[in-house]
Amino acid sequence: MEQWIYPFGGRESTGSLLLINLLGSKGAHLAEMARLNLPVPPGFTITTDVCQYYYQHNKTVPDTLSRQVYTALQQMEHQLGRTFGDAKNPLLVSVRSGSPVSMPGMLDTVLNLGLNDHTAAALAARSNNRRFAYDSYRRFIQMYGHIVLNLDPYLFEDMLQWHKDQHDYRFDAELTAEDCWQLSEQFKAKVLEETGEPFPQDVHVQLDNAILGVLDSWQNPRAIRYRQIHQIPAHIGTAVTIQAMVFGNMGMDSATGVAFTRHPSTGQKILFGEYLINAQGEDVVSGNRTPQSIADGEHTIDAFGYKAMQEQLPEAFATLAEICGQLEQHLQDMQDIEFTVETGKVWLLQTRPGKRSGSAALKIAVDMVAEGLITERQALQRIEPSSIEQLLHPLLDSDAPKQLLTRGLPAAPGAISGIIALDSESAKVRAADGSAVILLRNETNPDDIQGMQVAKGVLTCRGGMTSHAAVVARGMGRPCVVGAQAIQIDLHHKTFTINGQKFFAGDRMTLDGSTGEVFAGVVPTVQPHISGDLEILLGWADKVRRLKVYANAETPEEVDLALKLHAEGIGLCRTEHLFFNPARLNHLQQVLTATTLAERQVVLTDLLPIQIEDFKKLFTRMQHRPLLIRLLDPPLHEFLPSNHFRRETNPMLGFRGARLGVTCPEIYQMQVRAIFTAWQTVKQALPDLADISIMLPMITTVQEFTILKQHIAAVASSMQALPTYRLGAMIEVPRAAIQASELADVADFFSFGSNDLTQTVCGLSRDDTSHYWQPYLQQGIFAADPFVTLDINGVGALMRYATDQGRLQHPDFVIGICGEHGGDPASIAFCHGIGLDYVSCSPYRVPVARLAAAKAALADRS
Ligand code: PEP
Ligand code: MG
Repeated sequence: MEQWIYPFGGRESTGSLLLINLLGSKGAHLAEMARLNLPVPPGFTITTDVCQYYYQHNKTVPDTLSRQVYTALQQMEHQLGRTFGDAKNPLLVSVRSGSPVSMPGMLDTVLNLGLNDHTAAALAARSNNRRFAYDSYRRFIQMYGHIVLNLDPYLFEDMLQWHKDQHDYRFDAELTAEDCWQLSEQFKAKVLEETGEPFPQDVHVQLDNAILGVLDSWQNPRAIRYRQIHQIPAHIGTAVTIQAMVFGNMGMDSATGVAFTRHPSTGQKILFGEYLINAQGEDVVSGNRTPQSIADGEHTIDAFGYKAMQEQLPEAFATLAEICGQLEQHLQDMQDIEFTVETGKVWLLQTRPGKRSGSAALKIAVDMVAEGLITERQALQRIEPSSIEQLLHPLLDSDAPKQLLTRGLPAAPGAISGIIALDSESAKVRAADGSAVILLRNETNPDDIQGMQVAKGVLTCRGGMTSHAAVVARGMGRPCVVGAQAIQIDLHHKTFTINGQKFFAGDRMTLDGSTGEVFAGVVPTVQPHISGDLEILLGWADKVRRLKVYANAETPEEVDLALKLHAEGIGLCRTEHLFFNPARLNHLQQVLTATTLAERQVVLTDLLPIQIEDFKKLFTRMQHRPLLIRLLDPPLHEFLPSNHFRRETNPMLGFRGARLGVTCPEIYQMQVRAIFTAWQTVKQALPDLADISIMLPMITTVQEFTILKQHIAAVASSMQALPTYRLGAMIEVPRAAIQASELADVADFFSFGSNDLTQTVCGLSRDDTSHYWQPYLQQGIFAADPFVTLDINGVGALMRYATDQGRLQHPDFVIGICGEHGGDPASIAFCHGIGLDYVSCSPYRVPVARLAAAKAALADRS
């Protein structure tokens, strides 16, 4: 008989971390903690196979499941000396989701299951705490109503709020036993009214339905969306863990909380976390109550006078701290631990690798290597290249004048200015206009995920550092401030006040996610410095990567930045970008619009000394490092005034690149003369100056390349000293890729211009896809925007072909990429795989590329 369940926590604890795919991350970690003899309430996990079966068999579960569940429940009853549904000493359970890949808050969980009118009374009698029993009961009805019966959670929330208003209560904790009992009665009546059926009193019916409810949550819209965003395959399914309940709401010596073994924002090695006295887990995660910190140091005293856990519950804190250390050592990573203290005793409900900011991830990885906990290689594998970008986010200019409006908790680093949107819908609309948006909510829930995704920053009025907004924004790399309690939102009038000052949706503000500060208007930002831990990690990356990493840069500032970020060369100097300032642009326009050769020659003569100076500056900066200069490739619409008589219907496929070079040879000849002259001058002072590399853009045919090569050779031979140079073909149109073998006979190297190559292979305009792109992504027509991540099956296939062909006759033929994909981690892995020699990307992505190239090399070896 197939094994659908794995018990843990008793004498028999099966499963381990090797079974994450089967037991889900939560189930596997619970089993592992139980094996370490840590205090885990006993339970069992229904495997992900059951979830897969459920969706393959028209939402039915295997016949043998219920027997196995029953047997496992009996074992739990035996262990605990309580019986499920018993009117004297009832066993209560939680039914929790848990997929192999963490999906925080996206799937459903039911707590306090097993309560009915009799067991609630029994719980009240046994615990001698009627308030606790009926508080648990009303919570259970509320959760069951929402998750299993699909009732709107606001139905219950509204009733609760109304009850509190009637009694002038501010907090749930002020509800008395009588209030809780009344609420449970009212909630049951509501269930009957809404569903036509009484709230189920049979605890086995409750359990069977809750299991189905959790399985159903795998396909709820927010889970589907989350999987799309994080590229989690839908077929893996969720496990369902059924575990004996322990109660954090048993009184003032009970609590529930979340602990991180290191600080999730800074990576500091301190126990960090939040807890609530006399509460259940969902109170912490939902952000409805603002929790207190665990450890001393950052604590405040809350509305009830509670202090940090270290002071309030010192013994439980000491136990927790010891367990945290033990778990981190065993699992060799920073852990995010959910715990409950039930009448003084600590219980662990979950551990998982903690989500962390980019800078925390880096610090933790580098520190753990120093502590001998992990290897350099493991450290590299742990850091997402894209998270490195977070470290390079702008900081607020400390000298700029600022008007501080309020302060919340610093949930995710980085500074951002933007216009305020008060809901996800308007965030999406404003972001589609191209505005930087800051999403401001009371608290976020998983339905806000799309708004958070389009927003550049997230601000909430409530919740703590482990609330949904904080966890999700940190994961997404959005600057985020939570718990800014001085903000009051009036959704109806689309306004909000901060300490009495009124603002409107659409107003501009600035967030500093590293300090938690919120400022009025736009505060200027400064670029951060790369140093310390990042350099250490990237140093390890440099030791293992095979791909060289170059930068796309042309101005002295960009080149300096690229070098500071350790670019090994410039892989694309777009010479037309040297004409971007208005005075220069005029020259370029005159070159492009001259109607006679004589007219053009006059402008080119003026331009020659200017270009010589440009290239001298570049060579001087680059010294021994390669500098790949691309000759002019100006799409006309980007460089001619819009009212100019020469217009093209398809300028991106028009008179640009090699076509300009062939038609007006004197333009490229002026440029190469400038390059040769500049090089020869600089070489005198810098003997180890790298050789000259020139790239020809938009090459389509071999003849075209050969003609341009001859034009350039003519200039070379007219120089006093014959310069040596390498001439590369940019592969940007499919025909050039198809002709790679022949092109490799005449060219010295290739560089894939993957922006244009994507445009020409896919037949998609690189400038205009935004109008129709969303449905393409939503319907999975493309897995990702092909202008961001290489379309492996189309553009990638052609790149692989061209690379193989180019190297057939010339095995050492140098080939690289200089389109935007050169800075995209997934594309870099592909480039590594097809054997390119280098990637070239914008300067800020150089560190990302260094790490991505190293990870690709490591993946080869494993
Ligand atoms: C490219 O097309 O990928 C490229 C690098 O050239 P540009 O973006 O300048 O057209
Ligand atoms: Mg191009």
